[in-house]
Amino acid sequence: MENLEQFRIEVRQWLELNCPDSQRHPMAAKEQYWGGRTGKFSSADARLWFERMRDKGWIAPEWPAAYGGGGLSDRQGKIIKEEVKRIGARPPLVSIGIWMLGPALLEYGSEEQKQKHIRAIVNGEIRWCQGYSEPGSGSDLASLQTKAEDRGDHFLVNGSKIWTTSADKSDWIFCLVRTDPNVKKQAGISFLLIDMASAGVSVSPIRLISGESEFCQTFFDNVQVPKENLLAELNSGWSVAKFLLVHERKLMSELGSDSPRQVMAPNVVAHEYLDVENGKLVDPQLRSELVDYDMSMHAIALTHFRTFEEKTAGVHSAAPLVMKYVGTEAEKIKSELLLAIMGSRGLGWEGEQFTDQEIDTLRLWAMSKAMTIAGGTSEVQLNVIAKNVLQLPKS
Ligand SMILES: Cc1cc2nc3c(=O)[nH]c(=O)nc-3n(C[C@H](O)[C@H](O)[C@H](O)COP(=O)(O)OP(=O)(O)OC[C@H]3O[C@@H](n4cnc5c(N)ncnc54)[C@H](O)[C@@H]3O)c2cc1C
Repeated sequence: MENLEQFRIEVRQWLELNCPDSQRHPMAAKEQYWGGRTGKFSSADARLWFERMRDKGWIAPEWPAAYGGGGLSDRQGKIIKEEVKRIGARPPLVSIGIWMLGPALLEYGSEEQKQKHIRAIVNGEIRWCQGYSEPGSGSDLASLQTKAEDRGDHFLVNGSKIWTTSADKSDWIFCLVRTDPNVKKQAGISFLLIDMASAGVSVSPIRLISGESEFCQTFFDNVQVPKENLLAELNSGWSVAKFLLVHERKLMSELGSDSPRQVMAPNVVAHEYLDVENGKLVDPQLRSELVDYDMSMHAIALTHFRTFEEKTAGVHSAAPLVMKYVGTEAEKIKSELLLAIMGSRGLGWEGEQFTDQEIDTLRLWAMSKAMTIAGGTSEVQLNVIAKNVLQLPKS
């Protein structure tokens, strides 16, 4: 039996000694460390914090120590997360490899694949991006057309992926490809790991309304991918894809509590920006909206707690299926509230007259809408809930 109280004390002591003061504040988007061959730390302290957490095995506490994880239990991992949050510490590494690919590698990867890729993720050496969506295959992902032909010792990949977040900054991409066009669409898909430096891979950033381009279209033109880069069995990529999506959606459902960006509580921000009398906000409308928001966040936090306990106890529950929808919709409400609180100060996209917090608020407001699309749109999530949770008839 683990002594969790003792473990919590030790975690607290270690963090007290090892987390630099400068890393105990909310982080603006530009300060995130994403790792990879071209990744840069925003400060010497950010590097120190990352290196200490990495050496302790706490970048991925629950992953096996043999691959650079902490080798800890889910409960211990949760305690570390809670203690890191308690002191307001920043995530030392923000990583699609940690959030999405790593769990799939641990579940489906060969020993060689785990040895090669997991440590590189934990050490922040390789930055990954996700090659799922294609022009014409978003919600209907299984209709994807990028094909991989068997050419003996390698696959020959041709096609393109779209909305590949940060493909231009990533070192590798995990991709769904069609390996059998003659069977039911889900049954002819495989999961490939592709080095972005391979001949024939090219990336074209997609310019957004903001002038920035986080999204890219990724092209594969006769790209040779070694057979050893196939994850799981040939034509069983759909199972890996769904497994990985569970992790992606879980992450997105927790955005409110675990955002790698600034975590701003509307209630706290309201006291900074609005008139307060006797500890109460003067504006009754906003006051009531804030209470509604706080109550729903409390309910979401309790449901997260419940799903963790159910998972740890091996109890199957439908609750996780609703959380992506609920969590990302709550983030939209939060962003609207923050803008209402900040008024014109919340309308700064850039410029020195606005604080980092104000600029981030507006950017997060735009991002909160995107989050109800990424990883499966809210409408599609409602379909999932109707079918799998409520068990409603198809039509
Ligand atoms: C911020 C962000 C980051 C992303 N990053 C990546 C990435 O890194 N890699 C990647 O592969 N993809 C990425 N995507 C793409 C994302 O997965 C797709 O946008 C998403 O799956 C929706 O697909 P689509 O854009 O083709 O929209 P469509 O599928 O064309 O949907 C259009 C509209 O129709 C609705 N709709 C579609 N089907 C149904 C249905 N059956 N019932 C009801 N309504 C329906 C949708 O809800 C939506 O409103 C990202 C998207 C966003 C917004």
